[in-house]
Amino acid sequence: MKQFVVIGLGRFGSSVATTLAESGYDVLAIDCDAEKVQSISTQVTHAVEADATDEDALKTLGVRNFDVAVVSIGDNVSANILCTLILKELNLPYVIVKAPDSLHGKVLTKVGADRIVYPERDMGARIAHNLISSNVLDYIEFAPEYGVIEILATDKMFGRTLKELEFRANFDVNVMAIKRGENLHISPGADDKILEGDKLVLMGKNDNLEKMREFGS
Ligand code: ATP
Ligand code: ATP
Ligand code: CA
Repeated sequence: MKQFVVIGLGRFGSSVATTLAESGYDVLAIDCDAEKVQSISTQVTHAVEADATDEDALKTLGVRNFDVAVVSIGDNVSANILCTLILKELNLPYVIVKAPDSLHGKVLTKVGADRIVYPERDMGARIAHNLISSNVLDYIEFAPEYGVIEILATDKMFGRTLKELEFRANFDVNVMAIKRGENLHISPGADDKILEGDKLVLMGKNDNLEKMREFGS
């Protein structure tokens, strides 16, 4: 079972830490603020007050034995970078870092971060996509230019099969799943019919998803 160390317990870091712990994983949570440590202590395996830029302190905590580190030292840009550097020098296999912007993200890549996340930017995009069209229920970017959206089936789709609708041929968009009430039909085929009230999970290029949405509404 993977072991996680979460460094920086702002809203993002503490949410990552408590969610992992709720899912049954071992979580070591670190922050230099005693109050943050105190308030999360009953929700994670270990919570420790330490300066994440102090290499000896991280060594003493045995951080090098963890599988994954999540670094989110929001306001303190240099601490975010220095901590990432130390973790990679300690040979942590996978270090995920929250960055405020892409310039900061580039620096983090240079010092060895394995994955950079931009939760504010991504959530902003997600909410905007939700607002643009009333039938879009959710949007997840999974690569630049590519996304997954969940839409409510529109009347042009009711009673028609995927073969008849030809989303793939017309829009290069794949239906990954059809949600019907409580049921989730994964990887539907050509003969599956769309009914009123269905929700469709679609994957494709953003501009194709856009065209698809125009077709739908
Ligand atoms: P959010 O915006 O989601 O709240 P954030 O990553 O922007 O998250 P901040 O609210 O800035 O987070 O919190 C960063 C946390 O990192 C704070 O709890 C702060 O005490 C902690 N922190 C700052 N510097 C260090 C450091 N050198 N070592 C350990 N923790 C630190
Ligand atoms: P293709 O080369 O497009 O995969 P195919 O004959 O192998 O064609 P079928 O699975 O028989 O594909 O489906 C026929 C048509 O139904 C596809 O061309 C496509 O337009 C549509 N279709 C089937 N399944 C899906 C899906 N999951 N998402 C989108 N369209 C689908
Ligand atoms: Ca912040």
